Amino acid sequence: MSTYDVAVIGSGPGGYVAAIRCAQLGMKTAIIEKYSTKGGTCLNVGCIPSKALLDSSHHYEDALKHFEEHGIELTGDVKLNLEKMMERKASVVDQTTKGIDFLMDKNKIDSYQGIGSFEDKTHIKIEGEETTTIEAKHIIIATGSKPASLPFIDIDKERIITSTEALKLKEVPKHMLVIGGGVIGLELGQVYKRLGAEVTVIEYMDRIIPTMDAAQSKELTKVMKKQKVKFAVSHKVTSVENTGDEVVVKATDKKDKEVEFKGDYCLVSVGRRPFTDGLNAEAAGVKMNDRGQIEVDKHLKTSADNIYAIGDVVKGAMLAHKAEEEGVFVAETIAGQKPHIDYNLIPGVVYTWPEVASVGKTEEQLKEDKVEYKSGQFPMRALGRSRASGDTDGFVKILSDKETDEVLGVHMVGARAADLIAEAVTAMEFRASAEDIARMSHAHPTYSEAVKEAALAATEDRPIHT
Ligand SMILES: Cc1cc2nc3c(=O)[nH]c(=O)nc-3n(C[C@H](O)[C@H](O)[C@H](O)COP(=O)(O)OP(=O)(O)OC[C@H]3O[C@@H](n4cnc5c(N)ncnc54)[C@H](O)[C@@H]3O)c2cc1C
Repeated sequence: MSTYDVAVIGSGPGGYVAAIRCAQLGMKTAIIEKYSTKGGTCLNVGCIPSKALLDSSHHYEDALKHFEEHGIELTGDVKLNLEKMMERKASVVDQTTKGIDFLMDKNKIDSYQGIGSFEDKTHIKIEGEETTTIEAKHIIIATGSKPASLPFIDIDKERIITSTEALKLKEVPKHMLVIGGGVIGLELGQVYKRLGAEVTVIEYMDRIIPTMDAAQSKELTKVMKKQKVKFAVSHKVTSVENTGDEVVVKATDKKDKEVEFKGDYCLVSVGRRPFTDGLNAEAAGVKMNDRGQIEVDKHLKTSADNIYAIGDVVKGAMLAHKAEEEGVFVAETIAGQKPHIDYNLIPGVVYTWPEVASVGKTEEQLKEDKVEYKSGQFPMRALGRSRASGDTDGFVKILSDKETDEVLGVHMVGARAADLIAEAVTAMEFRASAEDIARMSHAHPTYSEAVKEAALAATEDRPIHT
């Protein structure tokens, strides 16, 4: 029987990063993945394919709607080749997942393909083409998540679909109903809107992206409405039915009135659930909580003292970079180091266009926590860079402590916000004040000047360019 210092179950961004860090720290490491390709949800049916389709559909929309204003005239018609777009997406996924195999080999990590299940605290049975058992001193559970649904919805994967099917549709829906105005629903909704579908987003809460700052919800709603996406917020879905060539969604609105929506596809994007099927965690004494997550302490240790769990299968934001941080954290903990993660500084991003990005506390949270704060906001449209590219929607908002000026939260909507948020994370990691950011030189012309201007507005209410 092969024995290891560490065995990692699951090869998503949590698992494969944990495995690499363990190997870097000199531990003999194995990784177990049930599918034939590594990379988990993120690389196969999540972050990477969705971003590939967002980029392709963005090009298509630009060609249709924006080339002309830039003085680019097309002599023929712009035509969508959905099959080719999907092929390109598949090849991006293929290259990316192969990259993980390369990294496993480079770091001398043994890969096993099959479903890993606990026999006891130190033995994992792997059922693949053959069945084998390995032994490991430490085990990291990184089994991720699957799309969640509502109890009364029958996901038939044909007309009533999850993100997994939405990433490989063979036709552009005529009318896509999206249940859930969170990140995944909005990103995939925008993809199909750009490709020509009518899109209606039905959301239970009174605003889309409800966990982000309210100003971001408002701005993104405004921009997406301009893009002709329809929204039905404060609507509680009560039934979803595939009637053959139509999907009928019934919901009750704020006034308890029944409303009916009809479309040809219904994307159910109401969140994700932790995935532990087939793991036989009980055999190792690993406990779950009532949300189906694996219970962990502050060291990400489970109720079994040699077993850790990370990523989507434990509490916290279901994000690839959160899973990666936890992978490194656990590897270093096993190696006897004392790593640290500041969960407040895990940024959240929506890759619509304009992009939406956030880190730290929202204005609503600060109010709830009774923290006195200052707020500085700067509109993207006031930037030369935004006018040059035509991306004038959005803003950067910086919230800083009223007394100390320490940055407490940064929230933005705009071109490249997903990349711009890194500056805010850096600043907050170093506990910068808004004035610190305001005094740093930001290259001109860039979108990042909005960060400096918002910091100036927060510091002394003296932005230069508005
Ligand atoms: C459409 C979509 C878009 C997304 N976009 C983003 C984004 O832009 N940015 C972002 O940060 N996050 C995004 N996410 C979320 C992100 O994909 C997850 O947060 C991330 O993949 C979690 O990583 P993980 O390692 O915890 O689990 P996963 O990536 O889910 O990986 C778990 C792996 O474990 C394997 N596994 C499970 N059980 C077993 C077993 N018993 N034996 C062997 N193998 C097993 C699974 O097959 C899987 O490969 C997106 C998700 C979706 C669905």
